[in-house]
Formats: sequence, C-alpha cells, structure tokens
Amino acid sequence: MNILLLGPPGAGKGTQARLLEERYGMVQISTGDMLRASIKNNEPLGREAKSYMDKGLLVPDDLMIRMIAIRIGEPDCAKGFILDGFPRTVAQAQALDRMLSAKKTKLNYVVELAVDDDRLVERISGRFTCGDCGEGYHDMFKPTKAPSVCDICGGTNLTRRADDNAETIKTRLSAYHEQTAPILPYYKAKGSLKIIDGMAPMDHVQTKLVQLLGLK
Ligand code: AMP
Repeated sequence: MNILLLGPPGAGKGTQARLLEERYGMVQISTGDMLRASIKNNEPLGREAKSYMDKGLLVPDDLMIRMIAIRIGEPDCAKGFILDGFPRTVAQAQALDRMLSAKKTKLNYVVELAVDDDRLVERISGRFTCGDCGEGYHDMFKPTKAPSVCDICGGTNLTRRADDNAETIKTRLSAYHEQTAPILPYYKAKGSLKIIDGMAPMDHVQTKLVQLLGLK
C-alpha cells in the first residue's frame, strides 16, 4: 500500500508516519529527514540543500525528484511506503505519478492533515527530538518527564531543528501556501484526496488515519 500524507509543516505528518511504521512495519519516506541526514554526512546533495533549508525555502524540484526516484526504487519500498514531505510542488506530484506508473503502481491513499496556521507556529516552535533514539517531544504538549532527559532511552542529546525558529517558520508557511497547497486540488481532481482534522490530539488523528486506511 502506497500512502501520501499531505499538510503544512507541523501538521503531524512525521509523527503519524512514524506511528504507522512502528505499528504496521510500513516504510516511512521523509524527504526532510533524508536531507538532514545528507547534511549531517556532509554529502554534496546535503551541502546544496542546506542553503535553501536554512532559509525555509523549498529545495529545487530536480534535486528532490532525483532523490525520491532513487529511494522508492530501493527494495524495502517494493511492498509500499508512506510519503511524508514529498511531493511539495505540482511538478513533484506530476513526476511522482510518472515514476509510479512506470513501476505499474500508484498512490492508494492521499490524506491531508488539516491544521490552522496559528496552531502550526505554536507546534513547530516548541518541538525537539532525542538525537539518540529519535523520539519527538514538545515544550508544551509533550515535555520529557525528567528535565532534558529522553523518556525512552535516557539520552541527554535533545536537539531542535535549525529551521524551527520563528523567522524561518514564517517562510516555510508561505512556501507551503504558495507552492505546496496547489497540489491539493491536483489530487482532489483525481478523486483521491481525503482530509483528516490534524488539530485533534495525536492519538485521535492516528485512530482516524488507521480507520481511513482500512487497518486494524
Ligand atoms: P520537513 O522536514 O518536511 O519540514 O522539510 C524541511 C525542509 O527540507 C523544507 O523546509 C525544505 O527546505 C526541504 N524539503 C523537504 N522536502 C522537500 C521537497 N519535497 N521539496 C523541496 N524541499 C523539501
């Protein structure tokens, strides 16, 4: 089953995709995570992407399309995947359609997590992650039980994303409205777009998503 999660930055796409990955062994493909790993490893792609990401701008389509074409061609994606963060432009959506039809497959579900802008700023600016095990937290909604210690692995390497600051968030939201939101009508016209209220608590969103995908 191939799933696409859409929605603005901070809508909970990554959280929901990770939950599906943990519960059902699905493969999560997060282009943001892939780019951050590429930057950490000082790869040419990461070096090129960094200047855009630091400003909150989208990385050029040709780079992203090449990156995703390689990733969905890898063996672990043969049984299906959850896309989180790609496509982000109509050109990327069209390229994805071409890639999938060449593989004689398609997107089975396209789900938008809808969240208002004012809630997004609050959500993004408070989030942080354990750099050791990847568990996600939030200053207000999901603080660690002990200050600065990961509840899951006990690590103290808690990190915030460089682009989760007030100024960059504004640019990322503008990029979403101007460049990414136009892909919603693209999928709506195909009759495949479903919408879930992403402002509900995380476990409610997961329950709705699981129902919509016909999972148990
Ligand atoms: P995310 O982790 O999905 O919020 O992505 C973080 C940043 O990575 C974005 O602000 C963009 O700069 C870049 N990025 C991730 N995915 C894409 C994409 N599909 N197209 C262009 N830029 C992307």
